[in-house]
Parts: sequence; C-alpha cells; structure tokens
Amino acid sequence: MNPRKSLTYLGFRLSRPGAIEKMKFVESLDTMTSSELESYQQDRLSDLLVHAAETVPYYRDVLEEADVVVDGAVDLSNFTQILPLTKSVIRDQGERLHSSNPNSGVYINTSGGTTGEPVEFLQDDVTLEWGNANRRYYHEMAGRELGKPWIKLWGSERDLVDERASIKDRISDVLLNRHYLSSYRMGETDMRDHVAAINEIEPADIEAYVESIYELSKFIRDNDLEVHSPNAILSTAGTLTEPIREVIEDAFKTPVLNKYGSREVGTAACECPEQEGLHVFSHTHYVEIVDDDGQPVEPGEEGKLAITSLTNYTMPLIRYEIGDMAVKSETDCSCELPFPTIESVTGRVTDHFVTTEGELVYPGYLRKQLYHEPWVKKYQIRQTETDRVVYRIVLEGGEPDWEAIDRIESKTQSLLGKETSVDFKYMDRIEPSESGKFRYTISDIE
Ligand SMILES: [Zn+2]
Repeated sequence: MNPRKSLTYLGFRLSRPGAIEKMKFVESLDTMTSSELESYQQDRLSDLLVHAAETVPYYRDVLEEADVVVDGAVDLSNFTQILPLTKSVIRDQGERLHSSNPNSGVYINTSGGTTGEPVEFLQDDVTLEWGNANRRYYHEMAGRELGKPWIKLWGSERDLVDERASIKDRISDVLLNRHYLSSYRMGETDMRDHVAAINEIEPADIEAYVESIYELSKFIRDNDLEVHSPNAILSTAGTLTEPIREVIEDAFKTPVLNKYGSREVGTAACECPEQEGLHVFSHTHYVEIVDDDGQPVEPGEEGKLAITSLTNYTMPLIRYEIGDMAVKSETDCSCELPFPTIESVTGRVTDHFVTTEGELVYPGYLRKQLYHEPWVKKYQIRQTETDRVVYRIVLEGGEPDWEAIDRIESKTQSLLGKETSVDFKYMDRIEPSESGKFRYTISDIE
C-alpha cells in the first residue's frame, strides 16, 4: 500500500474505527448479482421490522395493525400497508419512536431547515459509519483513488462565525487529503480564489452543492478562466437539472455525478459514470416512490420518496416521507452494478407548485422559460398563493425583454390556471437560504 493510502486509512480509523470493515463490505457488493443484493436487502428489512416491533412503542402498534409483524413473524407482502412516517408524526410521537435497545454512540441530529420547522431525530455510530462507507464508495466509483486530494465546496457554519476547525477535524482533513472551499463566500474575489485553489490542489474530484458549483461554473465560463479538470464533479444537496449539468460539465470538462442524501437518512443513492439514473444503496436503504396514498407509482411516474433506513436501530425510520419527489425508473442502468436505480430526484415537495385545480406540479417547465434568456442573471420563482406567482429577477443589466415577459406570464397561466396572477420583481440580488443552498422555486402553499 502506498504511504498516502495508508495515511488515509489511519484517518478513517481515527475518525470512525468501524467504517473500514463497512467500506470493504460495500466494495464487495460489486460482485453480487442484483437478485442476491435484493434478497440481502429483504433480510435486512425483515431484521429492522422485527427490531422495531419489539423495541419501539410506536412501531409495536403500527406494524401489528398493518399485519407486517405479528407474533415476531414478518410478512413483507403487507409492507405498503404501513403508514408512512412524516415529520408531523415524528413531532407527535416524540420518544415513542425511540428504541429501548439502541445502537451504540447515540446522538441527536436535526433535519435540514430549508423548509418548515426542522425535526429532531436520533442517530448512532453504526448509521454514521455506513454513511461514510457509502460516500467513500461513491468517490471511488467517480474515479478517485484513496489518498488522492479532493475538494469540498461546502457551506460550513464554521465559515460564518469564523471559528477554527477542531484539532481532530484538522488532522482528519490532512490524513484524508480533504480541502474545503466555502460556498458561503461566492463573491467575485472569492470565486477567483476558489479557481486558484482548484488549480493549485489539482483535486481528483470535487464534491459540491449543485447551486454553488453551478455559480462557479458560470463564473469560469463568463470570465474565460482556465481551471483544472478533475475526474468528476460530485453534486449534492439540490436538484441537478440537465441545463445545469451541461454548464458545469462544460466549465470543468468532466462528468457531473449526482448524489442523493439527507441528514435524516445519509447518502442513499448516487449516479455511476453511465449517468442513467441514481443507484440506490440498497444494502442500507429501502427506497420507494409513492403516491398520496402511500402506494408505489408506476415506472416513469413521479411520486414522493419514502425511505427506510436499514441501519438506524436507535430511532427506526420506516417509509419516511422525506419531502422530496422522484421519478421511478423505466429501465435499468446499462452498467454492471447490482444496485437498482431511480430515474431522477426532481426536487422538494415544497418546491412544487399547486394549480388552481389543486394539482401538484413540478415547476421545471417555468424554470425552462428563463434558462436561455440573456437578460436574466439570476431568478427565483415563488408561489405565494394558489393563484399568485412572483418572479424575482436579477437583470444582467438594462431592461427586461418585454416580449419574453408576456410569454412567461402566459406559460405560467397555462401551467397553473388562467386565473393565476403573475408578478415580476427586479432585484439587486437574491440571497441563498440559511443553509447556503440556493432555491430556484419556492412554494408557500401548505
Ligand atoms: Zn450504473
């Protein structure tokens, strides 16, 4: 083993001693067939359900009512009868969702605060280590060998309060060869500094918030800057649309591989270099795409993501409706990997708009109207009422294109209903949300 690689292993061992065996296990999954992996997943799901029925008061009732666990025996054919878990159920049930026989290393985490009130939930070292192992696998799939430098373009609270990283974090950064650039600092000088840092570090890959790397890519394109091309850009925490992907790939001359994860369930799915959908980490997650009644949608259809974490035995999340929408795959990825795929994650439920008829629609169609408009520098579309939409626009300079404005208004009404009033507001800037992520569409409709 080369010295850099053994240092990295030391880094893993320091930060998460149990992560290494899990990393090796995840790597070994490549040799499984998809049906072997599926049956491994069904076993883990059954184990979790028995554990939840035996040790979690809320699930003792719910799993028996759904006829999924009766007298210690599991019947997976009734799985979709289980009431999906929502944030409001988590708030209502409180400690009734905690297991009396948790994993070790329990700590409290909170869901991301971009929309609505965050909820608290318990996690443990086991789940954290599986998360590390999955993330490591994703980087390897993207072509980065262990020990090679990489960059994280990230929104860390540390940057906001100018706090220094803990010694343990700083040692880990050195050992893991990990370099941070701040997604909170994205002014012109900052972005020039970011590009200079990328050229100096020459990372094997860059992991970044979609919106941040998109901003940086536009900056590189518009200023005609030279930038080091990594093996891949790993995008997370935001909706990766095709036009955004094109801009990033063009700026860095490398593929963008999308990842889906959240604070509640960790890294759940990611794209392989074939870019034909996101492979679900099915050894640690059971992922469903469901309709409003909690039943699976057909392939090609969009629905809500309901995720079961197979590793959190401390506060089991079963059919957890995380608040994101996704499309079910019609075909498998053409690669050899055994992991099943979802076609795409289309955004947060709260990024979706409601028509005047009361139907939930994805506003990607409205975003598309602004993609190639040279007069638009930045925008955000907000549904403030069921019959009102506001376009906040930062102009590239000069006047808006009035013909385009008329077209956008009529397209908006054709999507949402002809009674919809459409307003345009011209801004100097549009701030990202507190987490540092930028949201192109926001709905205020509950
Ligand atoms: Zn694939």
